[in-house]
Amino acid sequence: MQSQTSGAGKKILVIEDEPDIVRGLRDALEFEGFQVEARGSGGDGLEAAGEWGPDCVLLDLMLPDENGYRVCETLRARDPIVPIIILTAKAQEVDKVRGLEAGADDYVTKPFSVAELIARINAIFRRQARLASHEETFLIGEWEINSRKHTMRRGRISKRLTFYELEVLKLLRERAEEPVTRDELLEKIWGVAPSPTNRTVDNFIVKLRRKLEEDQKSPQHILTVYGMGYKLVP
Ligand code: CA
Repeated sequence: MQSQTSGAGKKILVIEDEPDIVRGLRDALEFEGFQVEARGSGGDGLEAAGEWGPDCVLLDLMLPDENGYRVCETLRARDPIVPIIILTAKAQEVDKVRGLEAGADDYVTKPFSVAELIARINAIFRRQARLASHEETFLIGEWEINSRKHTMRRGRISKRLTFYELEVLKLLRERAEEPVTRDELLEKIWGVAPSPTNRTVDNFIVKLRRKLEEDQKSPQHILTVYGMGYKLVP
């Protein structure tokens, strides 16, 4: 089977207990040239993640043994970088935010379009391929951001940045002091078409402010530009 996608050969771990969804995902992902392993419980999924070292994890929230959020936190604690995409049947915003708080990078709501999911996965891998050629560190305020280690450091304090957190910071920094629209962030970073109901960007800004800003209510570095988007003041 030939595939021209950038992610060909990459390893995708699916942690999902619904056989029909697993079958559909496996067929579509293998057709794209990905290697796929699937596990039907949180415990088995965590074990497979440790042994197999996936390049991306697709994680269902409603698992028979463990709460998916807990699985996500454990995965993230073990690996600060691996992209985690949550598959959620819950359409409520609060669940998405909670998933992102648990360290997920993205989420898709069931029933989802496999084509869109694959587009997002491919976008992740294209950006990862470019990451190596970028400069290693830059400053935002007193924080030194290290894009190779996915860390931010100030004095003795060091925090981890997930893949998407770092991507958002880098794009804002490339355009420092200029407003960048939510639509542009969505298109360039997530590779998805803008939609007025998509709160992904805002959720990430909240997470980043929590990490970067002394006072989240009056941010000094990631500013809201009303009616447009966000602006970085390094
Ligand atoms: Ca389930």
